[in-house]
Amino acid sequence: MFDKILIANRGEIALRIHRACREMGIKTVAVHSTADHDAMHVRLADESVCIGPPPARDSYLNKAAIIAAAIITNADAIHPGYGFLSENADFAQMVEEHGICFIGPTPEHIRMMGDKITAKHAAKEAGLPCVPGSDGSVDSEESAQELAKQMGFPVLIKATAGGGGKGMKHANSPEELSDAFRFARSEAKAAFGNPEVYMEKYLQTPRHIEIQILADNHGAVVHLGERDCSLQRRHQKVLEEAPSPALNADARERIGQIACQAIRRLGYRNAGTLEFLYENGEFYFIEMNTRLQVEHPITEAICGIDIVREQIRIAAGAPLGYEQADVRFSGHAIECRINAEDPESFAPSPGRIGGFHTPGGLGVRVDSGLYSGYMVPPHYDSMIAKLIVHGGTRNECLMRLRRALGEFVIEGVKTTIPLQKRIISEADFINGDYDIHWLQKLVDG
Ligand code: ADP
Repeated sequence: MFDKILIANRGEIALRIHRACREMGIKTVAVHSTADHDAMHVRLADESVCIGPPPARDSYLNKAAIIAAAIITNADAIHPGYGFLSENADFAQMVEEHGICFIGPTPEHIRMMGDKITAKHAAKEAGLPCVPGSDGSVDSEESAQELAKQMGFPVLIKATAGGGGKGMKHANSPEELSDAFRFARSEAKAAFGNPEVYMEKYLQTPRHIEIQILADNHGAVVHLGERDCSLQRRHQKVLEEAPSPALNADARERIGQIACQAIRRLGYRNAGTLEFLYENGEFYFIEMNTRLQVEHPITEAICGIDIVREQIRIAAGAPLGYEQADVRFSGHAIECRINAEDPESFAPSPGRIGGFHTPGGLGVRVDSGLYSGYMVPPHYDSMIAKLIVHGGTRNECLMRLRRALGEFVIEGVKTTIPLQKRIISEADFINGDYDIHWLQKLVDG
């Protein structure tokens, strides 16, 4: 097992990884920008290294600085968390070339899944059903129009290098497609430095269902069930639940098996998530995330498995030590993402935290690096806390979540807590009756 792990991230996820390490008796190294000098992940780590100024490209995305920090502190492994360098194949390769273990899949698998076209090809070969669409990239407006005519509108233009919902635009007609094609390409170029796009049928009422996978280096693969992440604003997840209220036992069993089989065929190892759209009883693969996900705690809540601990054990070469039949599911869990944003305009709201009180009690977990007096810097993602609630049934979970949101006090910045309270009081949500467009319609009024 590793003696010391460098955590190449910040905020709640750096803290989350630190906690797993501490419980396993592994020492931790925090890295931080000058803006995060006083951050909780830095305070709790055994050692810390400042890796640069506030902009992420000069610090949390600075590969050489992070690897140098690992070398000088003698860390045996690097955990990348999510975002930043977590899906950067070149980084994973550099880490390994320096004799340090990258806690995640191989650079080859990261590269394959990072490009959405190669990912879809690989997924198809591994037996996963995909959303109908172009076979590869769509390089001209003429070919986009031609394909849309064959497929029928509406269609969706997506960035090959996509992430975070950027470079994605749907079109209902040839006129709209002309604008969507140009817009998606220029947004993709600006966000990822790569204007390449592809096309999919635009599904009108799907749910976003994803399967959490764990795979070791000895051929064992298990799934930890699904998460329903249909509540999204601008294609970004806002609230997630597990299990999905939309799946019955048959559908759940089917997709779990299909996912494990595909992971085996791909020879993938470590934790990963296969994302699907689910409409009219059919699953359609959209992408694979080759890293830990923000919403992993709801899976931990319903199956009692510490996913970060498993990632570390797998990376160290340990066998999973259990099979699918040993994975037991219990109850229902919901995660609310709490952002430092105006709950109506969604404008970022950085600033100094005043009063701070987290909810507690049975089945309540808060993952956050906040404390009273902490300065939320303006340089990074606005998510400042995750509230994860578990109950014996979905109804118990909802009652507990309502109670917990009511106890949460975060002063000094605006937060999306009022939006979360609103979502869970809506009849459609209470009935589990929503698709990926539902929340956008709610906030658009
Ligand atoms: P990103 O990597 O940018 O997050 P994804 O492919 O994971 O992009 O898609 C993000 C979200 O966009 C999905 O959860 C879904 O809400 C929406 N989406 C993606 N593909 C389609 C599609 N073919 N039809 C309708 N909505 C889609």
